[in-house]
Amino acid sequence: MRLTYLLLFVLGAGLVQHEARSQEAPALEGQLAVIGERLGEVKEDLVDFRRDLHKNPEVSGQERRTARKVSKRLEALGLEVRTDIGGHGVVAVLKGGQPGPVVAFRADMDAVFSDAPDPVSFASRVPGVRHICGHDIHTTIGVALAEGFASIQEELAGSVVLVFQPAEERVIGAQAMIQEGALQDPKPDAIYAVHTAPFETGQIGSKPNVMMARRGNLLVNLNGDEDLSGAVKTVENAINGLNTVPPGASSVEGDFVAARIVQSVSSKKGKQWAIRANITTTIKKLEEQIKEDLRPVLEDLQEQGINYELKYENSSAAGVTNDPALEQRSRTPLRAVLGEDAHVELTTVPVFFSEDFGLFQEEVPGVMYFLGVSNSEKGWVGMPHSPDYVADEEAIFVGAKAMAAVMLDFLAEGH
Ligand SMILES: [Zn+2]
Repeated sequence: MRLTYLLLFVLGAGLVQHEARSQEAPALEGQLAVIGERLGEVKEDLVDFRRDLHKNPEVSGQERRTARKVSKRLEALGLEVRTDIGGHGVVAVLKGGQPGPVVAFRADMDAVFSDAPDPVSFASRVPGVRHICGHDIHTTIGVALAEGFASIQEELAGSVVLVFQPAEERVIGAQAMIQEGALQDPKPDAIYAVHTAPFETGQIGSKPNVMMARRGNLLVNLNGDEDLSGAVKTVENAINGLNTVPPGASSVEGDFVAARIVQSVSSKKGKQWAIRANITTTIKKLEEQIKEDLRPVLEDLQEQGINYELKYENSSAAGVTNDPALEQRSRTPLRAVLGEDAHVELTTVPVFFSEDFGLFQEEVPGVMYFLGVSNSEKGWVGMPHSPDYVADEEAIFVGAKAMAAVMLDFLAEGH
């Protein structure tokens, strides 16, 4: 099951496209070399940092220890650190010695509920909670970037903002951080993020425009004079009919709607019903379309004396929409630092993954990348939320070097 899923995911990635490698500015190469050296010096320490996070996972809204560990480390490196932003969020600013634009990196910090055994030697010590979405990897990459950029602070032209977000799994953290000024003083000109994915370690994937779907919540209330179970079936069928995704598909090309009934609850001896469904979609303004699609069925019911109410709300999982110009431009530094074949051009959107990083992208143009963390030789597969999720720690350094290159490239050419 897992393997099929993985296979679909990887096949969905499409073909790697080669482009002529442009000449990196010598200054940029020099800075990247210094960052690479620094990462080599602190490698063991960063692996320990990540293992400590892995052993002590904290679920959404409870990232107190993780946030404290991050903020202490960044303060020690001399960054300006703000804590408790939108819950346990941390925002750190590293001002370069030279003037220039502002570039941000976002890492999420929360873990996931899982009772499945943790197969690694540094297993979670918290019963029922594990890092199986790789946020311990993302957080450590953020810290690695702080180490790297601090080592070139004098010659750095511009500022780096590191955003450590709580409560991503409950998709409330990004909104809370934005409301509490995470993207102000200074306001970034661009924002980047990575999410672990089941590609081989060493690879990084991205696509322009929509890369992850957004979520919505649909609610239909029915009210009548008699038992409405028949009408409920009709409405449920109509909601299921909104699906444009073939059953079992894990990723889809083009726009799609995936609807899942969450629950149908009755009251007043079956004369009143609330039918709830989750919608995952790439379509930004779905509300009108859904109402149009469901209205004929509901109006039919109304003619039979059944009153209805239809509500559709976008959840804060805003999906991920990559800025096409930034995404395109980043491929050159990615290939320069990771190798010609390292960038995987994605052509499809996974159906059931969502993210609230999209809310940051609504404020500031940005790009999220899928960072490969699998290692087929060792049998490690980094499929997020899979019970046997294991991430290759080498991916921390791949991710840190990749993001350092992309962010430096942005600072070098700026806006
Ligand atoms: Zn995640």
